[in-house]
Amino acid sequence: MTKKGCRDWEPTLGLGANARIAQRTKKENASSTGQLMMDKSEKIFVAGHRGMVGSALVRRLKSEGFSNLLVRDRSKLDLKNAVTEFFAQEKPALVILAAAKVGGIKANNDFPVEFLLENLRIQNNVIQAAYENGARKLLFLGSSCIYPKFAPQPIPETALLSGPLEPTNEAYAIAKIAGIKLCQAYAREYGANFISVMPTNLYGPNDNFDLETSHVLAALLRKAHEAKMRKDRKLIVWGSGKPSREFLHVDDLASACLLLLEKYDSSEIINVGCGEDVSIRELAELICEVVGFDGDLAWDATKPDGTPRKLLDVSKLRALGWKPSIPLRDGIARTYEWFLANCAR
Ligand code: GDP
Repeated sequence: MTKKGCRDWEPTLGLGANARIAQRTKKENASSTGQLMMDKSEKIFVAGHRGMVGSALVRRLKSEGFSNLLVRDRSKLDLKNAVTEFFAQEKPALVILAAAKVGGIKANNDFPVEFLLENLRIQNNVIQAAYENGARKLLFLGSSCIYPKFAPQPIPETALLSGPLEPTNEAYAIAKIAGIKLCQAYAREYGANFISVMPTNLYGPNDNFDLETSHVLAALLRKAHEAKMRKDRKLIVWGSGKPSREFLHVDDLASACLLLLEKYDSSEIINVGCGEDVSIRELAELICEVVGFDGDLAWDATKPDGTPRKLLDVSKLRALGWKPSIPLRDGIARTYEWFLANCAR
């Protein structure tokens, strides 16, 4: 593994471990999205195709037979700067905005300038260019951290802007809220079909396993694996273990996004989650079980807990006929398999 997690290798879209995951996902999710009626030859730009979410969307779109996918590496197209020419040349019909600067509680807390600026730049550029070049639909990916720290649980979409945010991820949340508002403004002022999807905490292949910048699930998978290899007797977990989080496998998110691309045409935000949460302590225990680490957990109280609970109300999505298909334990086992194949020393 590199010092920076395993970000320097190329996600092998449609190959090896990813291909096996994609095949399994296709079978499992067949009933979640039903038969997609969309034109499979429409040009779809997936912004952020190398990230966890973007690469899951590309796998899913490919496995559903979409044949006209448009992607660009960061070295060829910097979404933070000029995108006008690219959009004018390519004129994608559909745009999925999965490009973002993302990170766990520590990274968000330590780098508010970068989280705010980079995300505002990327989303402003892409959303404006999509409209100006005639995209017929855009799907903007937000996050469950847009909701107030003490929102009612499970959190309904109507909780947006009803109270103060959790300080550890305020900069990222403000950027995402600005993206939602820009999509809604394009819809109201110009009739654009720009939708905003709020996923809960995600995990899966191509997650970031860097301990400084990752989210909790990837961090604990790596820590448990390394503790097992070193035959350590304890594993350090941040905070008190009391906060709870909802976790959705990214392949489930991809299947929900396809359904929403096909069926959801409202500028009102819509939550995507599995409807269940676990405490960080329960998550840590489950990960240790899956990985096979049988030492003790030790709690690092110098690290922040963040928001106490973040469980999304997913009744709106359920009413469209979608449900997740990857239980947490299976999802963790698969992600561990992927980590071993792609990141572990
Ligand atoms: P959040 O959902 O925005 O708070 O982001 P994270 O996924 O980074 O953190 C979720 C919770 O897991 C917080 O209470 C963290 O303190 C806790 N946690 C426990 N151990 C770790 C760890 O090793 N890394 C991270 N990122 N979070 C951890």
